[in-house]
Amino acid sequence: MDSEPATHCVAHPDVEARGPCAFCFKNLCDACASYEHDGSPCCERCGHIKEEERNDLSSGLLALVAVGYLATLAIGVVFTNARPITGGLAAVVAIALGRAMQLLVHAPTVARRTPAGVTPTAPRT
Ligand SMILES: [Zn+2]
Ligand SMILES: [Zn+2]
Repeated sequence: MDSEPATHCVAHPDVEARGPCAFCFKNLCDACASYEHDGSPCCERCGHIKEEERNDLSSGLLALVAVGYLATLAIGVVFTNARPITGGLAAVVAIALGRAMQLLVHAPTVARRTPAGVTPTAPRT
């Protein structure tokens, strides 16, 4: 009778896979899953790409918040004749906008993990 073949790492055929990469679905062993994306294993290549995407997303959000701040400030100046409260109000709106965007976009967590049983290379002195 045929039994399901055990899933093995694509790079290490003798090592049982921990799970597929969250993006390219290659089977990864613990050593190959060098990244974790929202709790799922992720290969070196995909993890690196996602990490950069995330950084881009963060700077994009920051730019948006800055634009929101300036826009609120401009609107506030027009409607309140630049009363001191306008600056504070704009800051509050910008912070709220930043929070709202973070919730909407849901920036995923990408973290480089240190696989068990693999000693990290010692830093050069
Ligand atoms: Zn991958
Ligand atoms: Zn492997």
